[in-house]
Amino acid sequence: MSGWLRVVGLGPAGAEWRTPEVADALADAQHIVGYHTYLRRISPPAGATLHGSDNGDELARARHALELTQGGARVVVVSGGDAGVFGMAAAVFEALEGGPPGWRELDVRVLPAVTAMLAAAARLGAPLGHDFCALNLSDNLKPWATIERRLALAAQADFVLALYNPASQARSEQARLAFEVLRQHRAPSAIVAFASSVGRADEELHITTLGEADATRADMRTLILVGSSSTRRIERPGTLPWIYTPRGSRAV
Ligand code: SAH
Repeated sequence: MSGWLRVVGLGPAGAEWRTPEVADALADAQHIVGYHTYLRRISPPAGATLHGSDNGDELARARHALELTQGGARVVVVSGGDAGVFGMAAAVFEALEGGPPGWRELDVRVLPAVTAMLAAAARLGAPLGHDFCALNLSDNLKPWATIERRLALAAQADFVLALYNPASQARSEQARLAFEVLRQHRAPSAIVAFASSVGRADEELHITTLGEADATRADMRTLILVGSSSTRRIERPGTLPWIYTPRGSRAV
């Protein structure tokens, strides 16, 4: 029995965003477990079994992967972006913690990858050049009141904010409500960027201000970045400005 489990992120888009370590794990896998959408992004090795599932049953997916590993198989669990950022890695550890003691002896590794926030920031310039925080606007797994409180405190602390999951097919109000909270604590001139489908054919980037930001631009493919009071724009002729946050920050 020499099974192993690798929990990997595929990056935000195609194979060029994937680390060689992740590509090697996929090439050695006997079983690949993940959400259907992510399985469609890979070319599995011959003979590998794909276990696709719908969004929402992460724990069942994680338990299944651990069972296959215990049976001696080489198993890869895939997430989009980085598996540790609002992805499958936490579900695997939740399953492992609540599972049979033998699971703690399995050869489990999490392989890091490029998260959407880093991909979006790179396209836009260097908005994460100084302190930032990342928030998930989905209220599937936490109350909206918690999200509002964290948004308000992060805005007051003048972090650059990366907002994941600003909308989904089932939720359209989150981004609008989030901007309402942020407008109470940040100047209308604060820079806001919408980065959608970064790295994919339908990539779209839009830079505006908090005062003018239109929440309906955000959908489930969008990461929203909100600048701190130090974040600046460098205008460029005929194209989007660069945005960046200087390495030194003013007092707030
Ligand atoms: N584990 C993933 C995040 C999963 S949550 C990661 O590390 O990136 C899903 C959210 O990630 C989306 O709603 C969106 O906010 C963001 N996202 C994922 N891929 C993206 C991409 N290519 N461009 C912009 N945002 C993306």
